[in-house]
Amino acid sequence: MPRPIQATIHTQALAHNLNRARHFAPDARVWAVVKANAYGHGIERAFNGLRGADGFALLDLAEAQRVRDLGWRGPVLLLEGVFEQRDLELCSRLDLWHTVHCNEQIDMLAAHKTNVPQRVFLKMNSGMNRLGFRPEQYRSAWTRLNALPQVDEISHMTHFSDADGPAGVARQMAAFDAATQDLPGERTVSNSAATLRHGGVPGANDWVRPGIAVYGSAPDFPENSAETWGLQPAMTLEARVIGVQHLQPGDTVGYGSSFRAEVPMRVGTVACGYADGYPRICPTGTPVLIDGQPGHTLGRVSMDMLCVDLTPLPNAGQGSTVTLWGRAHNGRVLPMDDVAARAGTLAYELMCALAARVPVVVE
Ligand SMILES: *Cc1c(COP(=O)(O)O)cnc(C)c1O
Repeated sequence: MPRPIQATIHTQALAHNLNRARHFAPDARVWAVVKANAYGHGIERAFNGLRGADGFALLDLAEAQRVRDLGWRGPVLLLEGVFEQRDLELCSRLDLWHTVHCNEQIDMLAAHKTNVPQRVFLKMNSGMNRLGFRPEQYRSAWTRLNALPQVDEISHMTHFSDADGPAGVARQMAAFDAATQDLPGERTVSNSAATLRHGGVPGANDWVRPGIAVYGSAPDFPENSAETWGLQPAMTLEARVIGVQHLQPGDTVGYGSSFRAEVPMRVGTVACGYADGYPRICPTGTPVLIDGQPGHTLGRVSMDMLCVDLTPLPNAGQGSTVTLWGRAHNGRVLPMDDVAARAGTLAYELMCALAARVPVVVE
């Protein structure tokens, strides 16, 4: 028997979440963002759930190839564009749309030998200050691109730094609108947070680009939860109790003896550790579901194991299923956001960190 740990990718949940994104931005087409191997879910595993998208957005040429290998003939967008000249040949061959965020990428296009002009998304740095042309440089970049025979349609794109919080999108939208308003072409500005919280920013989006929401986590947790947004977990991680210990007062659990029992306790040792992608930093008290009932961890997470408190659950024991995040067999959900918060991070990081050694099933 393989080690009793398993991740499940929920096809129906992916499709449901994609529809939730559509619900909030009904006039926009939807890119399913599948960078980072579909946020750790696996592009091939997530594909059936996401095939109702209008396009797939990602970063890596190898990932674009995988989407094409799955038979997807619709739009594929490279969110960071190309990294070197010869990538443009693959863009032609795989029919990829690509972001243009710097002059070097325009130089590459100008030197690209092709008879088939390419569709590009010109990226504005409207305040995030990672990639893109500043508003005052945007028009000259557009003019340069527009003069190239290698370029077909030019669309407009920016990315928000604060769509998930009180600062919102107004300042960046003002910069984007001012610099693009009289230019032809489609527009795309919204990630999950902007799609859910700002209705996809009406008028500014021919396309929205949700990632995290499609995978079932709230882009603005803890202000809102997946449940309040009507999102369903697309990934469950569960493992079994492989050992049970009976503690006396004063006994401790795990490395560093960081948890000490004050009363007699029953402790379950679960076949999941940080080498599976469960955050080592999660403290005693991090929520789990034990046979579908709320419970919590005890002591430090180690490489291959973590411990949970079985004391309040007399029916739980050796072989019990512990849900680390996602949906338990009785239907109860432990949102990944709740675990991520205990780790001082976001569900984004947890889902991307699911380890390769964890067996994954798709249902
Ligand atoms: C990752 C990414 C997204 C999706 O962001 P979420 O917060 O996961 O919705 C959208 N646009 C760009 C440019 C991205 O890099």
